[in-house]
Amino acid sequence: MTESLTTTANEPAALRHLVGGAWHAGDGAQRESTNPARPDEVVARYRIAGDALLDEAVAAARGAAREWATAGAIARGKVLRKAAGLLAERAESVALLMTREEGKTLPESRAEVELSVETLHYHAGRGRSADGVSYPSGHPDELIRTVRRPLGVVAAITPWNFPLQIPAWKLAPALLCGNTAVWKPASETVAVAAAFAEVLAEAGLPDGVLNLLLGPGELGADLVARPEIDGVTFTGSVPVGRSIQATVLPRGAKVQLELGGHNAAIVLPDVDKGEAAEAIVAGAMSSTGQKCTATRRVIAVGEAYDALVPELVSRVRALVVGEGTEEASRIGPLVSARAREEVTAAVAQAEREGARVLARPEQRPPETGHFVQPTVLEGDTGLTICQEEVFGPVVTLLRADSLEEAVTIANGTRFGLTAAVFTCDERVVRRCVSELDAGLVKVNAPNTGSELHAPFGGLKESSFPAPREQNADTSAEFFTWSKTAYLRTGTPA
Ligand code: NDP
Repeated sequence: MTESLTTTANEPAALRHLVGGAWHAGDGAQRESTNPARPDEVVARYRIAGDALLDEAVAAARGAAREWATAGAIARGKVLRKAAGLLAERAESVALLMTREEGKTLPESRAEVELSVETLHYHAGRGRSADGVSYPSGHPDELIRTVRRPLGVVAAITPWNFPLQIPAWKLAPALLCGNTAVWKPASETVAVAAAFAEVLAEAGLPDGVLNLLLGPGELGADLVARPEIDGVTFTGSVPVGRSIQATVLPRGAKVQLELGGHNAAIVLPDVDKGEAAEAIVAGAMSSTGQKCTATRRVIAVGEAYDALVPELVSRVRALVVGEGTEEASRIGPLVSARAREEVTAAVAQAEREGARVLARPEQRPPETGHFVQPTVLEGDTGLTICQEEVFGPVVTLLRADSLEEAVTIANGTRFGLTAAVFTCDERVVRRCVSELDAGLVKVNAPNTGSELHAPFGGLKESSFPAPREQNADTSAEFFTWSKTAYLRTGTPA
């Protein structure tokens, strides 16, 4: 078992790997996760999984596959429902752990835990929904109908920015559909991952159905390369996603990729600029900008530009940057020193390329910890920061003379995850929904945020053409194969 996982004590948790229903110490190098607000504070320690443990985990998942596949969706749903109850009981301690390990503010962590509980309930409910489609047959005594079968063994590789929610989005439907899983979470948030695996195991998953392996990116690469893995679901960076795709597709396994974004918000002159600014600041700055759906570019059309500037400036100046456990904090630290260096370097480069800083909070962030100043830049589309994703609280304001120009600018990156438009004009809405290159188009709402029962995914480099995540039907499409049965009654002819 893991120790002290969900306590708030400053004692580091000693983490283990869940393999075949037992908790194993790793046999590789010693690693740790730390508190981004207090980098000297170790949150958890563990030994990474080596090849032998990887072999064991894949074999355990393969060995458990048949029984789990035939257990029936109602029985599988019961386990998920129990896990939801256990997670709800531990909500506060898991939220505190998340804030200590990932850095987000405590209200953000609490919201993530709550959404993860709902996700488990939602997919559990699908266990009792109608499944399969019936077709008429040319034969009088025959019924044709589709049935679903699980893929088999699924690998889930998840990032640190939503250390509970993204795993819940992936694992809940994968397991409900009858798959077994090997899960490799991000190195930054291993303790939250172990807490979630603990909940799922305690809820009654049979041994081997879920296996958790802790270790670096290479472990993920080795996992997806195993021929026993029938499907991979991944959220993270574009290069890693594409390397997984190149490994997995040639052997005919399925792959689902949710990658980066460079999301635009278009503001038309006909809206209340204060309300638009409120939504833009939430979309750009919440979770310290570490969301693939975050607003990265704001495109103000015509006279909207000058009216929007003071609304954005006053709101960003008022943001309080601080440790996530402090009640006043709106913006926590970035996840790591590397992330801080990358964001700081990207802003400095933008300034060298001619961008101007329009707004930063009046209060300086704490000296220690991976804190950065949330920043609104003013610039043009030629800036590197307007093309490359910078995973932090930075947004660039751009000017467009017309809606047409705004749409062209919005579509002018290799990404296509989310887009927002602020307008009261129904024709503009229709045009934007149709013309914006984004998997999610939000009208008069932040780029970020989605309902867990609605399909989620991007276009262009932000995704891969596989069935969408979150929605139970599209998830079932990804995590199963469809078979067609011809059911004839009577004496075989
Ligand atoms: P990565 O893509 O490097 O990591 C995501 C997950 O993949 C982690 O579990 C990571 O493990 C694992 N991984 C790393 N390398 C490999 C590999 N070769 N094969 C298989 N798995 C691997 O993203 P980062 O966390 O480093 O973030 C980098 C960028 O990715 C961000 O700046 C952002 O642009 C984007 N990103 C997008 C997210 C989204 O929601 N779409 C979420 C997070 C990041 P480990 O942690 O051990 O390296």
